[in-house]
Amino acid sequence: MEFTGQCRCGKVRISLRAEVRPPLYACHCLNCQQWSGSAFGLHLLCAAQAVEVSGPVREYRYEHHGHVSTQYACEVCFTRLFNETTAAEGMRIVRAGVLEGAVQWTPQAHIWTKRRQSWITLPAGVAQWPESPTPEEFATALFE
Ligand SMILES: [Zn+2]
Ligand SMILES: [Zn+2]
Repeated sequence: MEFTGQCRCGKVRISLRAEVRPPLYACHCLNCQQWSGSAFGLHLLCAAQAVEVSGPVREYRYEHHGHVSTQYACEVCFTRLFNETTAAEGMRIVRAGVLEGAVQWTPQAHIWTKRRQSWITLPAGVAQWPESPTPEEFATALFE
């Protein structure tokens, strides 16, 4: 199946091809709150080769806990589209809200819940961690 989306101004288009929709998770960390100007980041964990963008994209690279994170945003309207990190080679983490249909999706996991804003109640039974889970724990929650 194919998922498509675009930045706020429409100059950058993003498409994602996958057999099933990649897993969706919410990150409540303070970085995600600051990046988004909102309560949490909503991320789709995708294989890098499944994600394509067209249009004027600007990159911003920075170091975080010894890993290099590269953020990709529309150069015109600054909507962030996805990022890559050397902590998860071969993946692209797409900002779910830029994709059409995302409004109907439910996160399969919540991470950094110790930074969760106090007004948010998480649904019972959904995988959650106070900080980052191990890659193994996370894969179990997202892919099984
Ligand atoms: Zn734009
Ligand atoms: Zn985060």
